[in-house]
Amino acid sequence: MSKLKKHKFIFIVGGVLSGVGKGVTTASLGTIFKAKGFSVTALKIDPYVNVDAGTMNPIEHGEVFVTDDGDETDQDMGNYERFLDTDLYSSNYMTTGRVYLSVIENERAMKYKGKCVEVVPHVPEEVIRRITSATKEKDADITLIEVGGTLGEYQNLIFLEAARMMKMRNPNDIATVLVSYLPVPSHLGEMKTKPTQYASRTLNTAGLQADIIVARGSMELDKPRSEKLAVFCGVPRENCISAPDVSSIYEIPIRMENQDIGNKLLKALKIKSVKTNLIEWKSFVKKIENSKKEIKIAIVGKYFGTGKFTLSDSYISVIEAIKHASWYSNVKPVLTWVDSEEFSAQGGSASGGEIQKKVHDKLKDFDGVIVPGGFGTRGVEGIINAIQFVRENKIPYLGLCYGMQLASIEFVRNVLGKKKANTVEVDPKTTEPVIHINPNQKSNVKNHRYGGTMRLGAYDCALRHDTKVFEAYKQDIISERHRHRYEFNNDYRDEMDKAGLEVVGVNPESGLVEIVELKNHPFFVGTQFHPEFKSRPMKPHPLFREFVKAVIK
Ligand code: GLN
Repeated sequence: MSKLKKHKFIFIVGGVLSGVGKGVTTASLGTIFKAKGFSVTALKIDPYVNVDAGTMNPIEHGEVFVTDDGDETDQDMGNYERFLDTDLYSSNYMTTGRVYLSVIENERAMKYKGKCVEVVPHVPEEVIRRITSATKEKDADITLIEVGGTLGEYQNLIFLEAARMMKMRNPNDIATVLVSYLPVPSHLGEMKTKPTQYASRTLNTAGLQADIIVARGSMELDKPRSEKLAVFCGVPRENCISAPDVSSIYEIPIRMENQDIGNKLLKALKIKSVKTNLIEWKSFVKKIENSKKEIKIAIVGKYFGTGKFTLSDSYISVIEAIKHASWYSNVKPVLTWVDSEEFSAQGGSASGGEIQKKVHDKLKDFDGVIVPGGFGTRGVEGIINAIQFVRENKIPYLGLCYGMQLASIEFVRNVLGKKKANTVEVDPKTTEPVIHINPNQKSNVKNHRYGGTMRLGAYDCALRHDTKVFEAYKQDIISERHRHRYEFNNDYRDEMDKAGLEVVGVNPESGLVEIVELKNHPFFVGTQFHPEFKSRPMKPHPLFREFVKAVIK
């Protein structure tokens, strides 16, 4: 597959602020190089001491993106998978914790043969080993490496050192992209380059020089400003790429490629220019622009964080999956976060009737409802009340992981009449454990073995014919990604099935319930797995696709 004689590496680093779009820039470069016919892979480096993102709070760190091989990674990995339309693995993700863990394990195994093990060079050597091995795994012509954090932080120094060492050894095979922010202070109304100049200088002190500057900001980078960047940052003027805010992230590869960023990077890597074929991508972006008719979807869950920005980060794959499915059907999704705590009897103050009225008033105007994954007890009763409403009022429903578990509980409570039905996650002593925990998970929890011990990654699921999900997938066996500790309790399966909430997907090896689907409802599906992780821009996930179709109807 590879076209080049040597592997080439591009490091993407950030200046001035975090959260300005290094991840999307990396992903977009992936789209561009793929459209030039190269094989591309991407790595994300998270400078946290955590071994994976699974133990990080979603409010602080955003979504935990799960790979097929069960790694709990950063949300940027989701962007790479979506923009590259490829599956990535554990080898594409590293954290400071993970790197140090390997170095220490090697030291314990005498792999350093009695040498003093030092932060430099042994830690960056381990970083390089990981980058190289991920590259070989995919036989990639071009490997994109996003260094998390911002220049000037102590945390990411060993990663910059790894880049410097690679550059020193193979100067023609390494390029650096600085994604930096150019603020426009309101009292000046003018874009300022100084912070980026400092960032560039900081990069220089790490022994690296930017080949390209991606100038993020609220407006286009103009000529005087790019001239300034060129002089003070030592980057050719034409290599300063204007990257203003856009309405859809999927426009970014096109906008960057309009400035020929791909060939400019190839030049830095001593490779001849190659044409880019973005025809398909461009027509996809046209389709987004033409999707004007709105559909209203509520995402019901416990509220956390500080406003919609955090929330959209915590559920980015769900949001992207809804968008992909909507654009496929030429509609524009309008998403509203509904705080489920509004629907619960806080301290017994609201009566059942009052709550039902609240749920009705809030949800009646939505065309569809999604309950995404979640953990813990807060907001759960409210979610269950919301699910009862959408079940009874035939509003299309898609429940993802917790959304499947809580839909099952709602059904057992309100249709089978077992009012005590619950998950042991919420009530460990419940007499009706519709969602329970298997013995080995119990011991994980008891012994505080939380890191990387959930049911994680891809598992098969056999689908029952003559169901909506089978119609959606048109496959007997599917594979989907998981991230949960609790499971549906098969003791409730027959009764629930007979009453109309049918078990339509089961893991063939373990018999674990993976999908439930309600009979005589336009669309009511709950999955124990997370379909959102496998949705791609031009290949919407079958379940989201069918959910949106039901919403449109
Ligand atoms: N809290 C539930 C469990 O651990 C669901 C997890 C999720 O929604 N990702 O099983």
